Amino acid sequence: MSLEFEAVIGLEVHVQLATETKIFCACPAKPPQGRSISDLAPNSNLCSVCAGHPGTLPVLNERVIEFAAKAGLALGCKINSESIFARKNYFYPDLPKGYQISQYELPICEWGSLSFETQRGSSQVQVRRIHLEEDAGKSVHEGGATLVNLNRAGVPLIEIVTEPDFRYADEAAEFLRELHGIVTTLGISDGNLQEGNFRCDSNVSVRLKGESRLGTRVEVKNVNSFRFVEKAIEYEIARQIEVVKSGARVVQETRTFDSDRGVTLSMRSKEQAEDYRYFPDPDLVPARVSTNALARWRSELPELPQAKRRRYQSELGLSAYDAGVITGNRSIMMVFDSAMQLIAKQESNLAKGIANLLTGEVSRKLNEESVALEDLPITPAHFVDLARAAAAQVISSAGVKQALNNAWKTGESIDTIIEKHGLKQVSDLSSLEPVVAQVLAEYPAQVDELKSGKDKVIGFLVGQIMKRTGGKANPALVQQMIRKWVES
Ligand SMILES: [Zn+2]
Repeated sequence: MSLEFEAVIGLEVHVQLATETKIFCACPAKPPQGRSISDLAPNSNLCSVCAGHPGTLPVLNERVIEFAAKAGLALGCKINSESIFARKNYFYPDLPKGYQISQYELPICEWGSLSFETQRGSSQVQVRRIHLEEDAGKSVHEGGATLVNLNRAGVPLIEIVTEPDFRYADEAAEFLRELHGIVTTLGISDGNLQEGNFRCDSNVSVRLKGESRLGTRVEVKNVNSFRFVEKAIEYEIARQIEVVKSGARVVQETRTFDSDRGVTLSMRSKEQAEDYRYFPDPDLVPARVSTNALARWRSELPELPQAKRRRYQSELGLSAYDAGVITGNRSIMMVFDSAMQLIAKQESNLAKGIANLLTGEVSRKLNEESVALEDLPITPAHFVDLARAAAAQVISSAGVKQALNNAWKTGESIDTIIEKHGLKQVSDLSSLEPVVAQVLAEYPAQVDELKSGKDKVIGFLVGQIMKRTGGKANPALVQQMIRKWVES
């Protein structure tokens, strides 16, 4: 008899908030000009508060309340009118105060949910809580020594904690993609995965199917890519099932993911539950959210990715795939939305053409060149003009590609590019007729084949005409002309 197992997975996601200053002091939370905190000289971005000097007092940055509440509203949470900061006590060199200011018993947001799609259909996961906390510094291990860099200490975070509602690794990955789209659309986080702006701990356990008790859980810490989260959980499920099948017990522990080898590795065992001796921070008053502020923040919420995807499909006729790719990339989404502002209602058929450009050629080039769309000279107007030119058959699909490449580099207008590079298709009958007549006269055998119903041969004839016009003839028109000739 084969035993059937199921996995039980919960996530804790840390999202760095994109506020100007840190959570309890006036130090910058993000350095200027899109540089990252890790670019700054070590320990150059701190003050006596975030360095934890005795006698200093934290002062709450009110913006973090707004950002956390907006995340909560977007996830359908209850926003508590009063939430409490607590001290989480533990010793670590990169935690200068000996405690982290976090929220424990009364977090700012509770009980929301998020739905998302996987290959098995749609799933919904409960969000148990969202709480605010300060980030710690960073320990750097160098040549046998450990150095401490406090630049990041005191940068605001929200931690989003789910119920253990996931059963599959890909559900966790899809949840994270959806959540990432939400926080970046809200503008509350840069969501830069490489910089660790958005990182995830997964709690994974396995049990026999039908069993209601939870198995021993293992925490996989700090994975900062959607694909690696999926791989780490997959590995962990398989590993735990093997352990149970062999008759051994899963050990409660914290593990890391080694992305090079695709395996999780033991970091430390958690035999005894950690005791952080939480208690309310006597230096901070409860954080309050007024009904007025909440109403204002609710009214400021932008259209979220899920609603956007639905609208793209129902109003603009995009495929689910295209809608997903566009909302999955913030700068592509912004270009698409701006392009839609530029076209008139009766031109809404251009949406598909613009979406095709963005999800195809543009996505490919962005990956290849690893550049950001907003740093290039190409603008939303270029995409509108390209789609218009293609729809009106002014340029061929090859011409569209060439014009796109050109605008990408130069930012010249599509009209100028078409003119300058002679991309205009020849669609005028009088100039095409002699070429068509000449080619058909030169290939009588093929014309006979076409007459006898061997339709494939038309491609060859169109090809000959394209060659002679230097690729500028409108192929659809040429095909029409050949058919007319053969019928007459
Ligand atoms: Zn500071």
